[in-house]
Formats: sequence, structure tokens, C-alpha cells
Amino acid sequence: MGNVLLHICCGPCSIYPFSLLKEKGYAITGFFYNPNIYPVEEFLKRRDALYEFSKKENFGIVYFEYLPEDFFAQIEPNLSQTERCPKCWELRLLKTAAYAQENNFEFFSTTLLVSPYQNQEKIRELGERIAQKYGVKFLYEDFRIGFREAQNRAKEMGLYRQKYCGCVYSKMEREEAILGKKK
Ligand code: SF4
Repeated sequence: MGNVLLHICCGPCSIYPFSLLKEKGYAITGFFYNPNIYPVEEFLKRRDALYEFSKKENFGIVYFEYLPEDFFAQIEPNLSQTERCPKCWELRLLKTAAYAQENNFEFFSTTLLVSPYQNQEKIRELGERIAQKYGVKFLYEDFRIGFREAQNRAKEMGLYRQKYCGCVYSKMEREEAILGKKK
């Protein structure tokens, strides 16, 4: 089927895309580039959970160090979520596609497509636009069907499951929601 560079946001979200793409016969390499994650302790927890899963399943991953400056260079403060998130997806997809092109991957894709909380159509649109720019095919799959099952599997495996999307703003929004509920 070809080789695919799969952008991975965290361990639990990699479970279903990895199993589906493997079943379809793709050779998969993971790509952990997530400068959105805040703070560094959270970044390390997500990275380590992915490492644990990849060792179990025996697939390779390209890891990037913690680069919050990449995120803050693109995402200005005070953006609404609908303005902020597409920039965040684009940042990560651009890096994935560039690496895929430089390293002769036929396809690139992302585990962002597993989340029912993200805008699937917008991510698809971005992926397809970026694919044209880099000349690497965007492998689109609606992975959302496997989201719940993967979360359950992550729980059984004891993999770290995050409580917020990733950036400092999503962390603050969650904390505000908790405080709001407690009032
Ligand atoms: S909420 Fe999630 S997708 Fe949106 S900017 Fe923050 S980390 Fe990125």
C-alpha cells in the first residue's frame, strides 16, 4: 500500500489509526511534533505514553524536542478557538508533510482525525492543500469510529490519557470550566 508518515498527537490517539493502517497494509512511521503542548511536563507524559505504545506494537517514531516557540510564533494570544485551532493543525501538518517529502514517504496523515472534538473537515481540507504544496499524498481516513474503543484500550494498558487538548489556552479553558461547575 505504501509508506505513510503518521503525525501522532499522543499515545491513546495513535491506537486506532495504527491498527487500521497496519491492517490495510501500510508501512507506518510515527511523527511526534506537537509544539502546542503545554507545559513541558505534559509534553513528556504524552511523549512517553506514545513511546510505551510504540514499543508494544514495534513501530518507529521520529520525535521532536519540546518547541513551544514554534507554537507561539504562529498562534497569537486572544484568538478564539475557531481561529486558533486551524493554525495549530496547520503548523503540525506542514512539518509532517515537509518531513515526508524530504524522506520519500508516499503519504502523510494525522491522528488528529481520530478525535470527535476536532473539526474533521477542516483538517482534511488543510491536509489536502498541504499535500499539493509538498507533492506528498494526504492519506485521509475518518478514524473517529475507533475513538472510544481506543480510549478503553488505553485505560486497560494504563497509558496516560490527557485531560485537555494540549495548549495553554485549552488548559485554561478546562480549568475555567471546572471552576464554573463548582460555583
Ligand atoms: S485547543 Fe488543541 S487544537 Fe486548538 S490550539 Fe489548542 S492544542 Fe491546538
